Amino acid sequence: MIAPTNKKLAVLTSGGDAQGMNSAVRAIVRTALDLNLEVYAIYEGYKGLVEGGERIKRMTWDSVGGILHKGGTVIGTARSDEFRTREGRLRAAHNLLENGINNLIIIGGDGSLTGANIFRQEWPGLLDELVDEGSVSRSLADVYPNLIIAGLVGSIDNDMFGTDMTIGADSALHRITEAVDAISSTAASHQRTFVVKVMGRNCGYLALMSALATGSDWVLIPDSPPDVDNWAELMCERMIAGRKAGRRDTIVILAEGARDRHGNPIGSTQVAEILEKAMGEEVRVTVLGHVQRGGAPSAFDRNLGTLLGHAAVEAIINSKPDEEPQLIGMRGNRITHMPLMECVEKTHSVAAAIANHEYERAMDLRGASFREAYDTLRTMLRALPHPPQPGQKRLRLAVMHSGAPAPGMNTAVRAAIRIGLDKGHIMLGIQNAFQGLIDDDVKELNWMSVNGWASMGGSELGTNRKVPAGSDFYNLARTIEKHAMDGILIIGGWSGYETANRMVLERKNFPAYNIPFVCLPASINNHLPGSELSVGADTALNNIVEAVDKIKHSAVALRRCFVVEVMGRDCGYLALMSGLATGAERVYMNEEGVTLRDLQMDVDNLIRGFRGGKRLGLLIRSERANVVYNTAFMCALFEEEGGGLFDVRQSILGHLQQGGDPSPFDRIQATRLATRCINFLIEQAEKGSTASAFIGLQGKEIKFHDLEDFPRMVDLEKQRPKEQWWMDLRHIAKVLAQPGPHPSIEDDGVEI
Ligand code: ATP
Repeated sequence: MIAPTNKKLAVLTSGGDAQGMNSAVRAIVRTALDLNLEVYAIYEGYKGLVEGGERIKRMTWDSVGGILHKGGTVIGTARSDEFRTREGRLRAAHNLLENGINNLIIIGGDGSLTGANIFRQEWPGLLDELVDEGSVSRSLADVYPNLIIAGLVGSIDNDMFGTDMTIGADSALHRITEAVDAISSTAASHQRTFVVKVMGRNCGYLALMSALATGSDWVLIPDSPPDVDNWAELMCERMIAGRKAGRRDTIVILAEGARDRHGNPIGSTQVAEILEKAMGEEVRVTVLGHVQRGGAPSAFDRNLGTLLGHAAVEAIINSKPDEEPQLIGMRGNRITHMPLMECVEKTHSVAAAIANHEYERAMDLRGASFREAYDTLRTMLRALPHPPQPGQKRLRLAVMHSGAPAPGMNTAVRAAIRIGLDKGHIMLGIQNAFQGLIDDDVKELNWMSVNGWASMGGSELGTNRKVPAGSDFYNLARTIEKHAMDGILIIGGWSGYETANRMVLERKNFPAYNIPFVCLPASINNHLPGSELSVGADTALNNIVEAVDKIKHSAVALRRCFVVEVMGRDCGYLALMSGLATGAERVYMNEEGVTLRDLQMDVDNLIRGFRGGKRLGLLIRSERANVVYNTAFMCALFEEEGGGLFDVRQSILGHLQQGGDPSPFDRIQATRLATRCINFLIEQAEKGSTASAFIGLQGKEIKFHDLEDFPRMVDLEKQRPKEQWWMDLRHIAKVLAQPGPHPSIEDDGVEI
């Protein structure tokens, strides 16, 4: 990549604000500076672009320091009617020319991106007009014949084609999930019904995913309205049946754009009145409103903004004037570039399909995983399962955990049990991981056994790291035989994968193992093969990020350096991703190791930084980055070598990382994977196959791998996959952490 030295780039945020916009701005500014570009922020969106003057500010490395954890956008956003007019855009062009800027990154919704594209198309004409009216010279205009733009989508609605997630949507889901969890507990205490109205305009994403994540009882979304006219009656019947089945609370999630199949809006008061009449009890309405846009961005949104911002600068400097402008998005965990206007048009076509009552088409355009989530939700929120089909073979499927607790384990069990029961099968819960299977600690679970588990942290079935050995294998086989199990789902970590693999290999000795096994990755360490993300890792990451935010606040007025130790065993995922999300200046992980020379350089950097006026240092260390240079050693070394310039504190976060309720992403992921796993077991068992697998998210797809491939795909000694996709992100963390290049001690003569 060539880093031009004479280019200037500007960034603006436009439309509604969204959590994570700040991390994008920070990444854009710092990546641009790293490439020797001059970078500007345009304050107050297009309004600032039209006004110019003080609204266009040159940015330095430090002007975007300390903003990662802030909600909203620190450079402001506004709607601008003037920019919608050619006259307004003429002024905007003049302001950019005045500053010598012809590269622009826009972070906003479809409206903002459309506006940017119009501006780009008009640019040569606008310049001619400015020359004709005498406000700029022809020679100046000729230096900037084209406007190069790139777009990032910042919107809580997640309504844009071209990216799986828009910046802000995950944080909004966090806010909704927290609120609904809180409402559920008061609702359950009083056996009450609540209607919770969530944002999302024409897109049901927030409503659908929050209903799935919170185990709500009904959802109304614009993309797929009820397909019958008596929907209200059906909804009430279902709610009453749910109460009869033992549910203590009733929660209906209503998307703000919800409508019936004729396009008539469905309002929260209307739903509340219908329910009140049918249920004979007072129904409360909670409109969440702007709370959803507020608060600190989630770890995911911070990293999404960071990665997209970094990629946008690269896209700008690599783009040719005649190329289509690009929308930088994310699919799976990969950055994507799509033609910007194609994305805007496809986004508009969903809105058009909804307006024309073409709901099947709207759902198709939303994509396969949206539809899958909707179908799963329809099963989850049933009051009771469908009865078995007459004459159907009822399989006996067991569900268990293995390994350390991971938030989302309960959510996965709930989904597995309900999907299995709804298909007419008998579902067994094995307590206490493999120890429970050895000890015959098995019980049948019914629909209500897992009620309320969607949002619960910990592990209701119980879990531990027991890896069976010797005669354990005989006892395992005996229990499987005794309960006539037709398949087992193991939700957990390394010990589960290892043992399942061993059982498959032991089939010749123990015929009871001739059933399908499937492993679902649930571990905060994110160190399991075949899956880019394990259930629990997102919650752990959010726990770390929240803790580090607090740690940083505790040090506002001091020259202090924190070494924060995070979990992960020999896998550096949590360390790297939390380092990216908190702006840590250094991340230590086992994959890279730590040498004395590294530590010497880190001491130099710390001294240089604190001498230069910095007040806070943040280093994140994975628990097994190096067994000899442990956290206490590193702290002592830095403190001693710092010679009183700064003090050093260690913070070992420990088990708080494993605790707490699962994040929305972990709940959704757990539900999705468990649904697929149970379907896999049913499919294999019904055809008499013993095929066994582990499941995982890879890129955009959910895939199964043969269990026998487990040893081939991992580093057995380090207990991590041979390939770890996130290792490619290390250079971004380094670029954004401190201004480069980093001179060695000899280069700048700093004395220790
Ligand atoms: P959100 O999804 O949060 O509403 P948005 O980007 O879609 O974000 P809009 O209000 O549609 O929000 O657009 C923001 C600004 O972008 C507008 O105030 C206007 O300045 C500019 N803009 C939008 N559409 C156009 C257009 N067709 N032509 C020129 N400018 C536009």
